[in-house]
Amino acid sequence: MTAATPLSELFEFDDSYARAVPSLSVAWKAAAFPAPRLLVLNEELAAELGVDAEALCGPAGVALLVGQEVPEGVTTVAQAYAGHQFGTYVPRLGDGRALLLGEVVDTADRRRDLHLKGAGRTPFARGGDGKAAVGPMLREYVMGEAMHALGIPTTRALAVLATGEQIARETLLPGALLVRVAASHLRVGTFQYVAATGDSDVLRALADHAIARHHPDALEDPNPYLGLYRRVVDVQADLIARWMLVGFIHGVMNTDNMTISGETIDYGPCAFVDAFDPATKFSSIDHRGRYAYGNQPRIAQWNLARLGETLLPLIDPDTDAAVEAASAQLTRFAERYEAAWQEGLAAKFGLPEPDPELTRAFLELLHVEKADFTQAFRWLSAQLRGTPARDRFLDREAFDAWSVRWEAALGPDRAAVADAMDRVNPVYIPRNHKVEEALDAATAGDLAPLHRLLDVLARPFDERPGLQEYAEPGGGPHVTYCGT
Ligand code: AMP
Ligand code: MG
Repeated sequence: MTAATPLSELFEFDDSYARAVPSLSVAWKAAAFPAPRLLVLNEELAAELGVDAEALCGPAGVALLVGQEVPEGVTTVAQAYAGHQFGTYVPRLGDGRALLLGEVVDTADRRRDLHLKGAGRTPFARGGDGKAAVGPMLREYVMGEAMHALGIPTTRALAVLATGEQIARETLLPGALLVRVAASHLRVGTFQYVAATGDSDVLRALADHAIARHHPDALEDPNPYLGLYRRVVDVQADLIARWMLVGFIHGVMNTDNMTISGETIDYGPCAFVDAFDPATKFSSIDHRGRYAYGNQPRIAQWNLARLGETLLPLIDPDTDAAVEAASAQLTRFAERYEAAWQEGLAAKFGLPEPDPELTRAFLELLHVEKADFTQAFRWLSAQLRGTPARDRFLDREAFDAWSVRWEAALGPDRAAVADAMDRVNPVYIPRNHKVEEALDAATAGDLAPLHRLLDVLARPFDERPGLQEYAEPGGGPHVTYCGT
């Protein structure tokens, strides 16, 4: 294909969501933008979607990516959802500035949403301007790619485009639009929205769509709706454990930012911990630390309780029986999470099997010493290759005592253990200061630091010469802003 590829040949869109639950979205068109221009295009993801990256860079591609010109018969929609924001229920949130462009079946036969964020005000916009700024949209791009490279389920960005507008935030900022790819945009908040209407037919249709799309094996359970719930509990328990194992803090774990698919979604004021501390929070709006690092498992379970409530009428017409069945599944969250966390920790420490007491003792040492969570595990593997880690700690004796126990628990082939540890413990995570540096430069028009950062984060486990600055914590407290 060439830059002159016609619109109709770029993607073949489907609209299974709009057909399954027509009342849960409204047809809406993207705002017109003065001078849309690609800032970054994810070529690897384009290939996965089966679309020619070069063609997306052409005029038809750009017009499509900003929602200006869509193929005939395609209707872009804004999706409705509700949600608990910081614990308070908001009955009508929805895509205030986003549109679903359509669904694409990718080269691996997976159905994926193509979604535009920053596409202008929709009927759900409330007080917002419907727009997005370059910095926060590139932040979502960077964080999604970092998570993907770490092997963590996530939505990903196909592209970020500058719109050519200036938008009003605390200052005037260049406007942007993010093209997001997701397994779907079904959220806990989508179920809450429907449950609040009391329309059991729509609720059933939504649940059937979710089962078909994400958890088809639930159909084999005696009660498929309970099966759906069980599977969402499982994928979320696994996901949160993965976050915790790399020190990821989402920052806004509202129920509208939690997926049914088990993908991480909606990167706002998210960041990775440097010094290990369960109380770490970065978001300027999270005053009480509701979404602090160590609270995330508890909050996920709370969100899943809200999902369970919405499913009760489908699970059993007898409410008491439904509550009992759903509660039993929710209780499993803690077990499933703990198992995933302990197994993940065992891998991080190179242990043949989980040893909760031993691993907790090391995390406590990190906490007391305010040591860097990411680097610490590479110090341990380096020790197995002959570079002692003890000098990294203020309390060397405490480390020594722990280390003797740790080494005694490892398998005999130390080189193999060290290699296995390095395959799960990243050298490079999106360090807050490097992310800010790249976004500031990009906002000012220089994309070079962003591309360099993306390149580093694409291979997080391979230590490479000359990249030490990407491996170091930045120092000093970090605050993330809401990112709208
Ligand atoms: P978020 O905090 O990004 O998860 O968004 C929460 C809600 O606010 C969603 O309903 C968004 O669509 C909406 N929203 C966020 N920013 C804007 C904006 N600039 N204009 C309109 N709606 C917005
Ligand atoms: Mg959101």
